[in-house]
Amino acid sequence: MKKVVKFGGSSLASAEQFRKVGSIIKADPERRFVVPSAPGKRNRNDEKVTDMLYACQALAGEGEDFGAKLSAIRSRYDEIIRGLSLDLSLDEEFQTIEENLKKGAGKDYAASRGEYLNGIIMAEYLQFPFIDAADIIFFDEKGNFDADKTDKVMSARLESMDAAVIPGFYGSMPDGSIKTFSRGGSDITGSIVAKAVHAEVYENWTDVSGFLIADPRIIPNPVAIDTITYKELRELSYMGATVLHEDAIFPVRKEGIPINIRNTNSPDDNGTWIVESTCQKSRFVITGIAGKKGFCSVNIEKDMMNSEVGFGRKVLQAFEDSGISFEHVPSGIDTMTVFVHQDEFMDKEQKVVSAIHRLAKPDTIDIESDLALIAVVGRGMKSTRGTAGRIFSALAHANVNVKMIDQGSSELNIIIGVRNEDFETAIRAIYNIFVLIQL
Ligand code: ASP
Repeated sequence: MKKVVKFGGSSLASAEQFRKVGSIIKADPERRFVVPSAPGKRNRNDEKVTDMLYACQALAGEGEDFGAKLSAIRSRYDEIIRGLSLDLSLDEEFQTIEENLKKGAGKDYAASRGEYLNGIIMAEYLQFPFIDAADIIFFDEKGNFDADKTDKVMSARLESMDAAVIPGFYGSMPDGSIKTFSRGGSDITGSIVAKAVHAEVYENWTDVSGFLIADPRIIPNPVAIDTITYKELRELSYMGATVLHEDAIFPVRKEGIPINIRNTNSPDDNGTWIVESTCQKSRFVITGIAGKKGFCSVNIEKDMMNSEVGFGRKVLQAFEDSGISFEHVPSGIDTMTVFVHQDEFMDKEQKVVSAIHRLAKPDTIDIESDLALIAVVGRGMKSTRGTAGRIFSALAHANVNVKMIDQGSSELNIIIGVRNEDFETAIRAIYNIFVLIQL
C-alpha cells in the first residue's frame, strides 16, 4: 500500500513544522511519496517564500539589485536547516539561482525554487531520495499540462522506488524551461503523483482539520465535513470555497483515489474524505455552503418569448460574441435572465445590450448589479423533502430578499441569488437552520 502525502506551506514554514511533518510521515510506513510546498507564513504578518521569490525576480527583471531579497529567502531556508540540525548546505543552489536570475530567468523558474529547495531539505531530513519535478512533470508547447507524457514517465520512474520526495508546483516545458501550475498548484502535483503510483489515498496536509461546511470568515468555527464527493467539492470550490486547488481533483478522480484533507497541527483529527461516491450519509442534510459576490443579472423580456424558437440561443450568442461566460440562466414565460460576473461584464455591457437587441429583438433589457450567488450543496438533498422550503423560510426570517433560485436537475445543489449586502446574513441563516440547530 502506498500513500502520497502533500504538505502545504504553513506545514513547512519552520523547523518546528518540519518536525511535525517528520513524525506524521514516520508514524505510517505507507506514507512513502512526499510532495512539499515552499515555506509559507510562520505567523500572520510573515511572507510566503513564493511571494518573496516573485518579488526577487521582479527586481532582477528590472535590472535592480535583488541581493537583499535573495538573502532574506536564503535565511528562511538556513533557519530550517539549522533548526533540524542537518548537515546540508544550499550554497551551490543559491549561486545557481542568483546566476540564472541575473541571466533573466522568468517568474516561473523563480517561484518554483521555493518548492525545489524545500524538497531538497525534506529529502535530507527524511533520508528519502529527491526527484526534481522538472524531470517527471511535463507541459506541452502551449503551456498546458501534458497528462499522458507525465503519467508515463512518472509511473516508470517511481515504480521501482520505495520512497521519494517530489517538490510540488512545477514541471518543465518541451524546451526544458520551468513552468509552474497556478498558485496553490502543489495540490495538483500531489494528485498527479497519487495517480502515477496508484496510491491507496492522497493525503493533503494543511492547517485546518478538513473542508469546512461554510467560510470561517462568516461562520465562527464551522463544523468540518466528514465525507464529500468530488462532485460536491467541485460545486463548492467553484463557488469560492478553498482548501484544495480546483484542478487537483482531476488526476485522482480518474483513478478513484480518495483525497484525505488533514491538519498537520492536529494529526489525530480524521479530516475530510473526498471520494468519488459514498453511501455514507452526510451528518447534515447539506454538505456545504459557499458563495461569491459580484454578479450582474441581465433581465430580458419579450412578449410571447415562450413560442419563439431560438430566442435563448440568440441572447446567449450576444454574450459569446463578447467573450463573456454566463453563470446561470433562469427563465420565465416571457423573461430570461442571464447571470454574469460583474467585473467581466462591466466594460462590455453596452456592446452586449446592443447585440441582444440586434439578434433577439426583445421588448426590454434591464440590468441589476451587486448581486451574490450562494450554492447550498448536498448529496443528501435528493432524498430529503423540504430542503428548499427550509432554506427559503430561513432566508425570509432573516429578512433576505431572494432574487433568483436555480436548482440543477442533479438535485445536488440549490443556487440562490441575493443582494451583495445580504450575502453574509443569508449564509448564516442557512448554516443555522441546517447545522447549528442540529449540534
Ligand atoms: N508555493 C506555491 C504558492 O504559494 C504553490 C503551493 O503552495 O501550492 O502558490
